[in-house]
Amino acid sequence: MSRIGLVCANCGGKRTFSYDRLKCGCGGMLLVDYDLERAKRTMTKPALRSRGASMWRYRELLPVIEPAAVQSLGEGWTPLTPLRPDAFGLRLQSLWVKREELNPTGSFKARGLSAAVSLLAERGVRRAAIASNGNAASALAAYAACAGIEAYVFVPEDCPPLIVRECIRYGAHTFRIKGQIHDAGDWVEEGHRLFGWTSVATLKEPGRTEGKKTMGFEIAEQLGWKMPTVLVYPTGGGSGVIGLWKAFRELRALGLVSGDLPRIASVQVNGCAPLVAAVRGGGHVGEDSPVAPTGLRVPYPPDLDLLARIVRETDGTAVAVERREIEDAQRALGAIGISASPEGGAAWAGLLRLHGEGWIRPDDRVVVFNTSHALKYEPGFDACDAPVLENPTALQSWKWEKP
Ligand SMILES: *Cc1c(COP(=O)(O)O)cnc(C)c1O
Ligand SMILES: [Zn+2]
Repeated sequence: MSRIGLVCANCGGKRTFSYDRLKCGCGGMLLVDYDLERAKRTMTKPALRSRGASMWRYRELLPVIEPAAVQSLGEGWTPLTPLRPDAFGLRLQSLWVKREELNPTGSFKARGLSAAVSLLAERGVRRAAIASNGNAASALAAYAACAGIEAYVFVPEDCPPLIVRECIRYGAHTFRIKGQIHDAGDWVEEGHRLFGWTSVATLKEPGRTEGKKTMGFEIAEQLGWKMPTVLVYPTGGGSGVIGLWKAFRELRALGLVSGDLPRIASVQVNGCAPLVAAVRGGGHVGEDSPVAPTGLRVPYPPDLDLLARIVRETDGTAVAVERREIEDAQRALGAIGISASPEGGAAWAGLLRLHGEGWIRPDDRVVVFNTSHALKYEPGFDACDAPVLENPTALQSWKWEKP
């Protein structure tokens, strides 16, 4: 709760805090800036030991100032499960899976939306909207329900049907649209223009990135304040990459960890790998993204330059895996009792690739993210009665009460 303003990730310029203006004049992304000297006084190692088991244990470095505005369903403080690398034929020092499927709503999107919806509550917003590939939509639906805020969620038509049902279950106005996540974004823009909906889409507000940042805090704390050397993260819109980078930099500034930042290895899927193209150069980004797991289907991330810079700056890398490798990885994790979503499978497949290429070294301490629960993606259900919408101009004929 030591938020003091915003700071540009590109030029370092400082701005006053804003809930919805996150573009600097230089084109860079504005991130939340904290009074770290103040945070240092209370966010100490011993103080943290007696705090509750949710991401709000790091409240000093979360953007909400008004404690009563916090919307929590018990998100975060997920297990960091150690695995024996040699059991998988891997030569590396230590290996952990961050068990993000155990969050409320079954994915790590709960973290970002807990923070984002808390900011909506702090600001007195009544109606929020999101364009999402699914997990962020159901997380908004849950936290909006918790806060008594109305949620409008727009997902691609082929969103996993159980996730669509989950949104409806939490009471969100739930719509499927023709096209991909950026097309869903057009609906949110139109709703903002017509009805003043507040967008909580990735990087449209500061909460999503700040919430995801807590994964980095937890990993450091769970490892006894020793940094891992590699993070293998399945990347879509990119708020997780930005959040993890920010987390370890803030912890270092607080003096809670020291040394090099972990190398961030971003995993995408062949057919939709804009960050791989940006980092490794050349190549076709691919809009034929239906090959990718839904959470990784973001052909146009809002700030690709920043993501590429973070990967380079941390000495990281980006790798694209194949559908087949993802399925094998989901089976391998299933076989040790971990329910891995396709995105979590992609991360595991990325680990195997980077190990095979020699990029991951025998002295590495590696954390792989299982970002969601396999059960949310079960095929063979229908999406209930969530209507399929064709064109955002249709919103003009909507009434408040009954869209
Ligand atoms: C959103 C999502 C991702 C991608 O995360 P970003 O931080 O937005 O890049 C990965 N896995 C799952 C399950 C997701 O829902
Ligand atoms: Zn700037």
